[in-house]
Amino acid sequence: MTTQAVKTPVYLDYHATTPVDKRVFDAMHRYFCEEFGNAASSEHRFGWMAEAAVKQARQTIAETLSARRPAEIIFTSGATESNNLAILGAMHANAHKGDHLISVVTEHKAVLDPCAFWAQQGGRVTLLPVNRQGLIDLEALEAAIDEGTVLISVMAANNEIGVLQDLNAIGALAKRRGVLFHTDAAQAAGKIPLDVEAMGIDLLSVSAHKFYGPKGVGALYVRRRNPRVRLQPLLFGGGHEEGLRSGTLNVPGIVGMAKALELAAAEMDAESTRLAALRDRLWHQLQKTVADIEISGCPERRLPGNLHVRIADVEPEKLLTALKDVALSSRSACTSASQAPSHVMAALGLDRERLQAAVRFGLGRFTTEAEIDYVATRVAETVGDLRRENTVGKNT
Ligand SMILES: *Cc1c(COP(=O)(O)O)cnc(C)c1O
Repeated sequence: MTTQAVKTPVYLDYHATTPVDKRVFDAMHRYFCEEFGNAASSEHRFGWMAEAAVKQARQTIAETLSARRPAEIIFTSGATESNNLAILGAMHANAHKGDHLISVVTEHKAVLDPCAFWAQQGGRVTLLPVNRQGLIDLEALEAAIDEGTVLISVMAANNEIGVLQDLNAIGALAKRRGVLFHTDAAQAAGKIPLDVEAMGIDLLSVSAHKFYGPKGVGALYVRRRNPRVRLQPLLFGGGHEEGLRSGTLNVPGIVGMAKALELAAAEMDAESTRLAALRDRLWHQLQKTVADIEISGCPERRLPGNLHVRIADVEPEKLLTALKDVALSSRSACTSASQAPSHVMAALGLDRERLQAAVRFGLGRFTTEAEIDYVATRVAETVGDLRRENTVGKNT
């Protein structure tokens, strides 16, 4: 196979973060130095200009998610904060109704850790298992609901293996049983269609830096009607954002997030098709050139830009270290400092005895076919080298 010249290192870690799209950067630009006003300053033009920009952004984001009203969008610092506000906020504000929270073992730490904190505070938490495909069982979910259940939190798309949970079915079930439904849509927003009304979602978290917007800004959708969701704030001091999130708004970040989400929605169909084709191309090449390789999670219900594989008889650390010219991850960025197998891999019930390297390929907007061919070749070469080293090591 010939490898065309590609610029290295090749970035294939779009689940960890994405570059800011130039069109997003251009939209944000004037809100740093020129229109720098505080959106809460109601006495002068500087404040009005900032407020008008925030209002427009709120409306754009509401429309993209099919929320009924712009006021249902609360700006935060990212999906970590949105998840904490959704989970702890809903549990505290509804303590009179019950103390039970249901989530899933494969959630992001930004969901699992607030769940653990709720349990530590004396609340009840059920973490549902997943099957080999990474999907929850809806009957098990229904069986877990009791009179004290306040909230179900299930992520839209997994950040490691990209599998998509059935939001429509979970939302319908939650509505039928009178339980609130939160979804961490950090990986899903801008990648797959999301409709809070049609899907019966009461709370939804997004993060701008996962869809070509800036870091440090996110949003939480909070349903206002049918039912009106009550939340206990985490931050106090000024009563911004309907009293749910005090603190001066990050105006350039908010403008950038809205622009980024608008672009992602407009380009979603074409981009999903392009990415799924590149992802399949990568998988087909790896299958041909690498023995003992397996795909993790459901092959069909997954993000178009995600491929997660396990390669037998290769040390995980050695593979990624040897692939210096490709930016890849073996697990989510937030937990990659630890050496233990990822909690998502463990939850899939995969053989922990067997030596294998997990590799997450995250493709995105700027990934090219030449890059995919280059990466496929480099992975095959490197796996071959490492396996030969293994054999040599054993024989001597
Ligand atoms: C990235 C990510 C988060 C955290 O988002 P931040 O905005 O970086 O705090 C939460 N959940 C999932 C699924 C993610 O992928």
